[in-house]
Amino acid sequence: MADGTKGARAEAGGGAPLTESMAARLVEAARRAREHAYVPYSHFPVGAAVLAADGTIFAASNVENASFGLTICAERAAIFKAVSEGRRDLVAIAVVADTSGPPRPCGACRQVMDEFNPAMTVIMANLRGQVETLPLAEMLARPFRLEGQV
Ligand SMILES: [Zn+2]
Repeated sequence: MADGTKGARAEAGGGAPLTESMAARLVEAARRAREHAYVPYSHFPVGAAVLAADGTIFAASNVENASFGLTICAERAAIFKAVSEGRRDLVAIAVVADTSGPPRPCGACRQVMDEFNPAMTVIMANLRGQVETLPLAEMLARPFRLEGQV
């Protein structure tokens, strides 16, 4: 596992288990972030919020671009926001979208989640109140690892 050296993967978050009220706060932060989505092409707004070990929440939306490949998902935007503000101790992430069932993060986002905590809790919620919570390890089997990393 990581030893804190440059380029090493982030240490899996320990800390307190995710409480129901914290999970609800996280979903609400993702729902609010969704309102800022920039989605003129897909018209599919998504919000995400990631929770650091001390309870700090970083929320973001998806942001599209006319050059479609430059679009970024809400989950990655939220994680990059947290990391760019010095946080790597990410314990959980919520994703909210107006889907018929709980929205599923794409494979790219799952890989990015794994970078910072293979044991991250993933909360998927839609606007109808349906919520599904799964450990990332159940959603991303055999993630990519650079040679030499566990
Ligand atoms: Zn994604």
